[in-house]
Order: sequence, then structure tokens, then C-alpha cells
Amino acid sequence: MKAVVGMIAPFSLAGEWYKGNLHTHSTESDGQASPQQLVDIYAENAYDFLAITDHMRLTDTTGLEARGMVLIPGSELHGGQGELGQHYHVVALGVREPISFAADATAQQVMEAATARSELCFVAHPSWSSLTYRDLLSLPDHLGIEVYNTTCHHGIGRGESAVQWDDLLARGQRLLGLAVDDAHLHYPDAIGGWVMVKAPERSEAALLTALRQGHFYSSTGPTIEMLESEEDRLYVKCSPVQEIRVICPKPGHGSTSYRLGRPGPFTEAEFAVREAWEVVRVEVVDARGRVAWSNPIWFV
Ligand SMILES: [Zn+2]
Ligand SMILES: [Zn+2]
Repeated sequence: MKAVVGMIAPFSLAGEWYKGNLHTHSTESDGQASPQQLVDIYAENAYDFLAITDHMRLTDTTGLEARGMVLIPGSELHGGQGELGQHYHVVALGVREPISFAADATAQQVMEAATARSELCFVAHPSWSSLTYRDLLSLPDHLGIEVYNTTCHHGIGRGESAVQWDDLLARGQRLLGLAVDDAHLHYPDAIGGWVMVKAPERSEAALLTALRQGHFYSSTGPTIEMLESEEDRLYVKCSPVQEIRVICPKPGHGSTSYRLGRPGPFTEAEFAVREAWEVVRVEVVDARGRVAWSNPIWFV
């Protein structure tokens, strides 16, 4: 049996699932809603946590009525330039004071500043930013990339960055994928993409630790209830979906529920673990085209 070193863990861990959005803008930068209005919108949609990540500043959320949510202090930073000419955007979370760097800082320097002064950081919307794999490979250590961004999806039709993620995974990068809203509320771009985090308690420290450990999955709708690998089988259990996919970023060895000979709906599927698998990830897609993305599962 192949040993699993990846992100199966959250599904069998003790703890609770907490739903949250890690990327949002208020009137403190270019968003339409005030910080309190954002908190109200997410609280009314039963979120457990929210990060207000205004551009190039740290919005103080300590005076807000949190309405039962954990408010994670964060910031979105811009800098450097990809080979196609766009700036990099980086989301930093667990930020205690504003993060500054030189106006001509490279993307590497922006990421280093973010890493030094936050609990975790990740690359925002690679598709929207037209970042290439060469741009992304050149960055220092970070958590991962936004696999889905709601405002980029509804704004310009480039919300998904699974292709970039797979390219990086195939090249040996150990990066996680996060779905976020990046809500600005100039059009309906809230409550579209989120992370589900498995943590022992609903606190900022526990949520950030769980995120760093990869104890989460991302979704625009479906629920992943179980991922399990036993005796060379990979088992997936989820809310009703039309297709369950095991995606192998390296050439040629993934699989999908479609090969089981019926079109769905499915709430579970089992796949044979292939000898060639080094890393795979699971996607489930419901009848409305909404997706949930597991984090990668690495095999040794
Ligand atoms: Zn951005
Ligand atoms: Zn943003």
C-alpha cells in the first residue's frame, strides 16, 4: 500500500468544520460595503469567519460587532510584475500591523515581507493576474494559490486557477488551493467561494493553524464529507454531485466517476490508487456546475 502524506487528514480528524471567506474589500479600500456591512452579510449567511483584506492597508476590525464570527486581520498586497505585465497580488492573514515594502519591490520581496509579518500568505487570483507558471515558480515559500475567486469569475470570467495549480503540482511544488470571494460588492460577488476548515475550536489561532496544516477544502457549493485511502483504494464521499474526479497533474493517470458507467448523481466513489500517482487532488462537480476542490494528496 502506498503511504499517504497529504491532505486526507482533515476528514478523519476530531474537531468541527468551519466555513469562511479569506479575501474581501471594504470602503477602507475599493469595496462598496463598510467593514460592519461586510460582517453583517457574512454573518447572515452563517459563516464562521471572515478576513477583510483591504488593498495595501490593515483595516482595524477590533471595534466591529463580530456577530459570532472570528474576524481574521488581513491585507492584500500588490507588487512585482509577471512576465505578461501584471502585478502580483498576495493575501496575508494574521497581520498585526501594516506591511510595507519599497514601491519597486519585486514579487519575491513582497512575498518575503508578507511571510515575515503575517501568519500565512497565498497568491491571489493567478488567472485574473495572468501569472504564468514561471512567475509562480519563482516565489519563495507560501501556502498556495486561490483556485477560485468569485469576483474574478463574475467580473471577467477568469475565476478559476486550477490549471496553474496543476502545473505547479506537476513541477513538485507543495501548494494548497483556496476558494475566496474577493468581494467588493460593486456587483453580487459575495457568498460564491469559500473554505471549509476542520479545527478543534473556532478561534483565530486554531483556524490559522488548521489552514497552515492544509486541514481544509474549498467549494462553490458541494460538500466533501470524506476522503480516505485504504488498501490501495481512494474513497470519496460528498453531497450529491454529477461527477467525482481524481485529478493527477502529471501526465495521464487520473480518473473520474464517469468511467463507472453511469452519469450520476453520485454521493460516493472509489478509485484504485495507481502506482504512478505521486500527487492527486479530488474535485466534485454538482448539477449546477458548482465545484469543491480537495487539497492535494501526496503519495510516497
Ligand atoms: Zn487582487
Ligand atoms: Zn482583492
